[in-house]
Amino acid sequence: MKPVQWIRRELGLFRHTPFERKYMNDTNIRTSIYMSVVILALETWMMIRYVHERPGRSFWEYLDGETNYLILFTSGLVVLSFALSHLHNTNRNTLNKAGIFIALLSIFIDIMIAVRYIYVNHSQQSLSSLLWSLKYMVLLLMLSVGYLVFEMFISMKPETRQAIYGQFLNVVFGLICLGFGIETSAYDVSRERQILCFVTMVIYVACLLIWKPYVSLGILSASFLYFWGKWKPVMEASDSPYAAKILEANWINFLTFWIALTMISFSIYQQRLEEARKEESIISANERLKKIAVIDDLTGIGNMHQFSPDALEALSKKDNLIYLFLNIENFKNYNDQFGYQAGNDYLKETAEAICRYFPGDPVARQGDDHFVVLTDILGHRERLDQLRHDLLSRNSEIYLDLKAGAYLPSEPDLDPHIAVDRARYAASLIKNHYDKTYKEYNDKVDQDFHRRQYIVNNIDNAVEKGYIKVFYQPVVWSHDHKLCGCEALARWDDPEFGFLSPGAFIPVLEEYRLIHKLDKCIFETVCRDLRESMDKGWTVVPVSLNFSRLDFELMDAVSVLKELTEKYNIPKHLLHVEITESALTDDMGILQEAMSKFHEDGFAIWLDDFGSGYSSLNVLKDYSFDVLKIDMKFLSNFENNEKAKTILKTIVELASGIGMRSLTEGVETAEQAQFLKEVGCGRLQGYYFGKPMPHADIADKIGKGEYVIGEIL
Ligand code: C2E
Ligand code: CA
Ligand code: CA
Repeated sequence: MKPVQWIRRELGLFRHTPFERKYMNDTNIRTSIYMSVVILALETWMMIRYVHERPGRSFWEYLDGETNYLILFTSGLVVLSFALSHLHNTNRNTLNKAGIFIALLSIFIDIMIAVRYIYVNHSQQSLSSLLWSLKYMVLLLMLSVGYLVFEMFISMKPETRQAIYGQFLNVVFGLICLGFGIETSAYDVSRERQILCFVTMVIYVACLLIWKPYVSLGILSASFLYFWGKWKPVMEASDSPYAAKILEANWINFLTFWIALTMISFSIYQQRLEEARKEESIISANERLKKIAVIDDLTGIGNMHQFSPDALEALSKKDNLIYLFLNIENFKNYNDQFGYQAGNDYLKETAEAICRYFPGDPVARQGDDHFVVLTDILGHRERLDQLRHDLLSRNSEIYLDLKAGAYLPSEPDLDPHIAVDRARYAASLIKNHYDKTYKEYNDKVDQDFHRRQYIVNNIDNAVEKGYIKVFYQPVVWSHDHKLCGCEALARWDDPEFGFLSPGAFIPVLEEYRLIHKLDKCIFETVCRDLRESMDKGWTVVPVSLNFSRLDFELMDAVSVLKELTEKYNIPKHLLHVEITESALTDDMGILQEAMSKFHEDGFAIWLDDFGSGYSSLNVLKDYSFDVLKIDMKFLSNFENNEKAKTILKTIVELASGIGMRSLTEGVETAEQAQFLKEVGCGRLQGYYFGKPMPHADIADKIGKGEYVIGEIL
């Protein structure tokens, strides 16, 4: 380290950080508590002793004799009161009445002493020496007024600004103590007594003022010099034969003492500074950790850990607050198109905009492109509209929308996670509804929400207790309407919610990635039903099974089916695998692989809902199927739509052109059946031939000859 740097560091010639300043201040103020208590005790004792030794005097006579003790005592009282008020009551917002009283009392005592002093001494002293004698009263006045100002105006302000104030009061207090130390000892040495009072006071002040070393250096050096100036003439005037020697010895001792004391105060300072820095780094590390835990990295706004307590606090203070869940619709495409960086920027801007339109409200990012807000119900729709408008105006190249779900909490202490879940659910109901951007959670939504929760929580139970049923819908040959197979369709017959159709529970199970539990149960029931029929010696028809795209992610679908056929000893040709077209739009290696394994194992694969999506033809190109199930939407409005007929005809021809057979779903009339037969669609399925029904019913109908089993391929 360079000498200049070293000197600067040792003398403290640099700026403290606010934390260091506060740390130094607080430790000094803590020290001043002990110091002022000592002063108070000492001066009380001195005053009692004075009165005790001189009985029978008047109040004013005592006052004249005890002026110095009283000044010290009063300044000790002020400093003690300041220290306690500063350390124990930071961040309060009411005035400290006791402190103000002490400040006023001290001002009163100070003025009384000063007036009395002038009254007694003005005739004997010159004006300048009179004024000089008043210096301690002036210092005490500064201390008391300073303290009064602190109590009335400063104590309620941010803490760091108080630091300089605390140091100021301590310096003034230190000066008073030093002054008295010097004067008492000067008086003592003139009577050949020791310099004990000076020594005590300098040590005392050196410990009290661990602040900037150059300040300590200045104050200590000035005190030593000043005292030496008073002491030296006394020694020189001595008529002792050893006077010269004593003077020399004292001079050296005095210098050594000054150096030692200065060094001690420097070293205490360095030690404290180091402590302060250590503590600051620990605190800042803690704060960083805390921040990481509650702040969303990307946008800098809070996450749910922060939102929850904030929301509860806001709700405890204010009524009529509403939870909003915001979702940027189609954001995935934005990311795909412009890249992650641009996506991240958009999310940051969204967070900023939300904070702008909902200033002061608890807000958070709940992962992905989801944000939550708790805001005043009054005007929240307008603010939402403005936010939406602002956000959408930033991008014109790609379709994006801001969807909001809202939930008005039924009670203020409802868990914010539950509340946000409800708002989120409301938002999910308007997903892909281009004309809707806002949905409030209401009773109907609530029922729905509970049903969903129920489904998610009870799928295991439903499988175990047999609430999951399989219904079979017949599939017939178009040329003779004889049975060629049937499709297994799931039903949930619940003791609480009644009969649930797949539309109610399949999307929920898919969303929560539980669909494989249901499908496994359906597959097993179908195998069991087939086994039972075969054991009874009935002729059976193949059954097609619906596979969800997620079945291939959540379980080893191929092995599951294979094991079931082995367990129930079912010939492979009796089971068809139905995979919907929408499952194949994502480029999925696992699905390709699973499909080839199914084929290797001897299962036929049927493409379900052909024509319902956007990439039907690609699917045909990339995968191979045995049967193509034409989506029932082509039959809606069939009678007066010539185009639909042409399309149907074309699809059937296309399928046969690439070696696939076709089946049309949703056949409801004889005309439709007739037409499909004419265009060459081999298989038909629909209400015209029969609705999905329990196994016993379809077996019964076969038994009664209502369905005649046709050729089985
Ligand atoms: P999907 O596979 O396309 O099944 C055909 C749906 O059309 C069935 O509805 C059936 O009842 C209905 N349907 C049949 N013929 C007609 C008709 O002539 N007119 C009309 N309007 N509808 C007809 P369901 O049983 O409600 O099933 C709905 C969807 O739920 C199914 O569509 C399938 O995607 C899914 N699903 C059903 N069961 C299962 C299952 O066990 N596993 C999986 N993963 N999905 C299933
Ligand atoms: Ca199907
Ligand atoms: Ca279908």
